[in-house]
Amino acid sequence: MSKTFDADVAIIGYGPTGVSAANFLGIRGVRTIAFERDANVYSRARAVTVNDWTMRIFQSVGLDAALKRDMDETYALRWVTYDGQELSRVAFPPSELGHARSYAIYQPEMEKTLRAGAARYKEQVSVDFGVEVSGLTQDADGVTLTVTNPKTGTARQSRVRYVLACDGGSSGTREQLGIPLIGDTLETRWVVIDAKVKRWWPNRHILTFWSDKRRPVVDIALSMGNHRWEFPLEPDESESDFATHDQLWQLLDTLGVNRDDVEIHQHAFYKHHVRHADRWRDGRVMLLGDAAHLMPPWAGSGMQSGIRDAENICWKLAAVLNGSLPESVLDSYQQERAPDVARYTQISVDLGRIIKQELSPEEVTAMQPPPEAPPQLPPLLQPPTLQQGWVNATTHEASPIGKYIPQPRVATTNGQLTLLDQAIGNGFVMLGDGVDPATLLTPEQKRGWDALGTRYIAVYAPHQPSQQQGDVIDIDGTLLVWMRRHCTTVIAVRPDRFVAAAQSYSLSVPA
Ligand SMILES: Cc1cc2nc3c(=O)[nH]c(=O)nc-3n(C[C@H](O)[C@H](O)[C@H](O)COP(=O)(O)OP(=O)(O)OC[C@H]3O[C@@H](n4cnc5c(N)ncnc54)[C@H](O)[C@@H]3O)c2cc1C
Repeated sequence: MSKTFDADVAIIGYGPTGVSAANFLGIRGVRTIAFERDANVYSRARAVTVNDWTMRIFQSVGLDAALKRDMDETYALRWVTYDGQELSRVAFPPSELGHARSYAIYQPEMEKTLRAGAARYKEQVSVDFGVEVSGLTQDADGVTLTVTNPKTGTARQSRVRYVLACDGGSSGTREQLGIPLIGDTLETRWVVIDAKVKRWWPNRHILTFWSDKRRPVVDIALSMGNHRWEFPLEPDESESDFATHDQLWQLLDTLGVNRDDVEIHQHAFYKHHVRHADRWRDGRVMLLGDAAHLMPPWAGSGMQSGIRDAENICWKLAAVLNGSLPESVLDSYQQERAPDVARYTQISVDLGRIIKQELSPEEVTAMQPPPEAPPQLPPLLQPPTLQQGWVNATTHEASPIGKYIPQPRVATTNGQLTLLDQAIGNGFVMLGDGVDPATLLTPEQKRGWDALGTRYIAVYAPHQPSQQQGDVIDIDGTLLVWMRRHCTTVIAVRPDRFVAAAQSYSLSVPA
């Protein structure tokens, strides 16, 4: 087999997952080629929201400001009945991650910005539109893809070291690898109506769940003057009952929305899936995004999970390709991401049952924290955690290992105020509470972290003087309080901002 490679990594599918991966590889200088069947961004708005975690991930490739221009902050969500009673309202508390808790998006615009972002890396990333990957074979050194042009019927081969299959829910790559998709597709069919707003109506900006056993509705403002409703069809209804705008208006009428309020611009039908691929890695091929998992939309986390998959695998692939980590680190991709996806899938299923009023009073009680428990964020708003993977093992609940660090506003030694990640950079970083963390490492530990290009940074409180260029001042104390709460003076932070090692446990590079 030829030793020459067209690129180090091939991305199959340039939807939100694939284009995110292109950005994460591009910024790390990884030679990447992406293949996408369709020439244009998919015009239908599917995902409706991104949160503070996802926005911080976009910040790592310098796209947060550009993306926010086409997004709106989300304020709260509420449950109402058809007769106008507001059952409950939850305001989003401020986030510790440096961005708003939640943003309403317009997916086609978001994808355009991500594509423009990836185009910044033209030396590293090329995209071949209008072609389909129709087959692949793996050997010890790489993967050979068959790339077909459906218009001309011509086929060629492309040779790469690794493949990221971001080819969506009906992934041909998953099928070709014989990886089963486990789980169920729910019976109910939904009609999704997207509209352009013509005039404001009360509380339009609050995400509203119309709670009703028969016809629960999701009513959500998208950004850029768009609005979305999702209605379930009843068992005796079919798509033909909602084929025309007149029929759709009958649904919107029940919510008090009429032709003066909005103009319908598209509608679609879909079913919810609760499914995941049995394996997310097959040798040199990784499944990401909808190709690896599908969840109902209630937690707004399907697309976001794909973006997080991409971030997780891309820094690891870059480290494997530059020789700083062994290939075995790629096994930690599914170990780390699958539990997070399972958690969001369960939250999504639970929220769906609340919206459909399917929970018994006993189940509602069981979901409430016990009265003696300390106040906690609802599950959807809790920060992510790694239970296992490329982190030093820990069994202690209060341990910082596997936790996601906050992103406060900090000062640099030359007096500039900025977000933490801007000050500490995108790679591995070791942070010390009032101490240069490098001074606390054994020579062997230091050699291990040096090989990963780790930066060593002391963090000081604002009343302390900094010691050397590059130190960080924790202006409001958020980071230092977080470290002290987790009983540690030094943390080793991965490029994705999870703690891999800590002084109170082990400061060695994870195996
Ligand atoms: C109605 C609805 C509402 C939703 N709401 C939300 C929400 O609020 N929040 C959220 O996070 N998610 C939501 N989702 C889910 C979200 O839209 C998907 O999870 C997300 O689009 C998946 O992105 P992806 O890139 O993995 O796959 P896709 O978007 O499906 O992209 C796959 C790409 O691969 C290309 N492709 C496929 N096969 C090949 C091939 N062989 N060769 C070349 N190219 C190929 C396709 O053309 C496509 O562009 C919703 C989905 C729906 C349907």
